[in-house]
Amino acid sequence: MPIIVQKYGGTSVADADKIKNVARRIIRTRDAGNQVVVVVSAMGHTTDELVDLAYQVAEKPAHRELDVLLSTGEVVTTTLLAMALHAMGCPAISLSGAQAGIRTDAAFSRARILEVNSARVVKELEKGSVVIVAGFQGITADMDTTTLGRGGSDTTAVALAASLGAAVCQIYTDVEGVHSADPRLVPEARPLAEIGYEEMLEMASYGAKVVHPRAVELGELFNIPILVASSFNDNPGTLIHGGVSMEVRNKVSSVAHDLDVAKITVVGVPDRPGIAAAIFVPLAEAGISVDTIVQNASITNVTDLTFTVTRSQLDKAMEVVAPIARSIGARECATDSSLGKVSIIGTGMQNTPGYAARMFGALSQAKINIQLITTSEIRITCIIEEARVEEAVRALHQAFEIEVQEK
Ligand code: ADP
Ligand code: ASP
Ligand code: MG
Repeated sequence: MPIIVQKYGGTSVADADKIKNVARRIIRTRDAGNQVVVVVSAMGHTTDELVDLAYQVAEKPAHRELDVLLSTGEVVTTTLLAMALHAMGCPAISLSGAQAGIRTDAAFSRARILEVNSARVVKELEKGSVVIVAGFQGITADMDTTTLGRGGSDTTAVALAASLGAAVCQIYTDVEGVHSADPRLVPEARPLAEIGYEEMLEMASYGAKVVHPRAVELGELFNIPILVASSFNDNPGTLIHGGVSMEVRNKVSSVAHDLDVAKITVVGVPDRPGIAAAIFVPLAEAGISVDTIVQNASITNVTDLTFTVTRSQLDKAMEVVAPIARSIGARECATDSSLGKVSIIGTGMQNTPGYAARMFGALSQAKINIQLITTSEIRITCIIEEARVEEAVRALHQAFEIEVQEK
């Protein structure tokens, strides 16, 4: 019997009625002749509420305790869903991440999955049960509970699908698939029928939070097709897979945005070997991921170095960079935490000139100032003022007349 892994996000399990709706969908999938493994998120905004509570009792909650606390949200959903299935006459069992064999490293709040030992899950499937696994959590070799980082239930689902050799990993959420832009910002945005892993990874990494980038990465690595669809209707959704044909590869297939951008500029840096390493090695050691880096070619042997981090990491990054800047004789460190990113993405852009010019033209027409620019082969990103991001997304969606292929 084929195994299908389904993941239901927070909005899809936000209350008792929604949990019952999910239970009915699971029973339909099982009745169609599949073994079903389900990964669930915490109900509604539970994770945010738990984070909030932690910061009410302590200024700096211990990472280990915070992970245990956050992991409880997902556990609540698994038990309620199992009870709902039982009430509908369907055998089901809830498992925590640890019980489902999700082994991780010990990096609390951003743990990585080292291994999935799915023996228990397989045993329960063989007994005929639907297996419901708490998303976003795992266990270390020392038996400590970890979490995988916000949005991590998608990663749990794809990791389980890979380990079980599932036919597909279905991610059910509150929108009808991966759209050409965030449908909350751009009403004309339409769901894509299909998209390749590579494009999806760029979209997810540059802000399209409908699927977590690590889940896409795992999907590509283990060649697991990922379906993203609504848990509220039966529309077809978007299939993320490796076999997208050239013909359906649009030039620019989507616009992504990210509102979580902060910039640090080290002003008046002496232009000599070793300076970049002096700044970026300690940042990496402090676990800070730096995104865009721009350094001007200097004429006077003094240059400015600008880079971006997420807003939540700005203070920590400044704690690392400010003393280094002083020690290398830089003039000052300036920060700006009210920035955002807009990106155009599409495999069709590869080796084709003119896209950057069109993007800059559209932003200039909207009188939006571009602060930094970065590119990959299939993406162009501009960093702009946060307040202008929504407008920029709409302008770009229109400028590139993003046509969405019909099924
Ligand atoms: P879940 O709780 O189900 O994991 P998320 O809130 O993490 O759901 O992701 C779904 C949200 O992603 C949508 O409500 C939508 O606002 C947002 N989103 C951003 N970009 C896109 C996009 N390109 N296509 C679809 N949804 C997007
Ligand atoms: N509940 C977690 C979060 O809100 C994980 C997830 O939903 O994927 O980030
Ligand atoms: Mg999500």
